[in-house]
Amino acid sequence: MADNTHLLLRSNLKQLRLPTMGAEFEKLAREASAANETYEQYLLRLTELEVAARSANAVQARIRAAGFPMPKDFDTFDFTAVPSVSKPKVLELARGEWIEQHTNACLLGSPGTGKTHVAIALGLAACRQGKRVRFVTAAALVTQLEEAQKRYQLDRLLAQLERLDLLICDELGYLSFSRAGAELLFQVFAERYERRSLLVTSNLAFSEWGQVFQGERMTAALLDRLTHRCHIFEMNGESFRFRESMKSKRGKKASDGT
Ligand code: ADP
Ligand code: MG
Repeated sequence: MADNTHLLLRSNLKQLRLPTMGAEFEKLAREASAANETYEQYLLRLTELEVAARSANAVQARIRAAGFPMPKDFDTFDFTAVPSVSKPKVLELARGEWIEQHTNACLLGSPGTGKTHVAIALGLAACRQGKRVRFVTAAALVTQLEEAQKRYQLDRLLAQLERLDLLICDELGYLSFSRAGAELLFQVFAERYERRSLLVTSNLAFSEWGQVFQGERMTAALLDRLTHRCHIFEMNGESFRFRESMKSKRGKKASDGT
């Protein structure tokens, strides 16, 4: 009798797509009867498990969709290595209100200073808050835009990008683009203005962006939109990678007795 009930219940929960409830109802029922819980308390606990599992799955799906090149979080970021960056201010951004306010962020500085690390950590935080995020290098984004244009699918790609709460455009400035490529990137940036957030990392100071965008007018128009309501972090200093490798070399020398 009980077996039959369990079988039917399991089958119903499967049909209703409630897999966590299906997996947990027996164990929870035993606990509930041992603790003299009411039917409502039991049902509440059971549904809570399903809700929690669903939101964890949704976060994982958003993180996968964001396309981060690797996972990087604030717990592994040493803020003392970049004294020019205010830790409270970065952690404030990690709370995500800036994205709800459709403002922007720029992380500027020389290579190896943690720009990509912080950009990913901010993106992860946004995914956990239920926001739609995409991480892409500037070069890859321009390539995607150009290819979409060739296939007459530019509007579709632009619409996809517009739906994102946060677009992270990494490594602007390492490569310069063709005039057409720069114009497409400009279009993406300009369309987000005051409607969606953009996070850009660059090894170039704003004064050097003309090299990437070719043409003073387009650069000025872009910077105007990007930097109006923008959180700017200058991450200057020695390369973290370089410092770490020097440290390990020194450590090795000391242990070799050289
Ligand atoms: P950038 O994008 O500025 O060139 P990255 O974010 O790629 O630099 O950093 C290079 C490497 O050094 C990465 O592995 C990153 O995790 C690490 N790194 C950089 N800065 C820090 C830091 N302050 N604390 C911990 N790791 C760091
Ligand atoms: Mg980088």
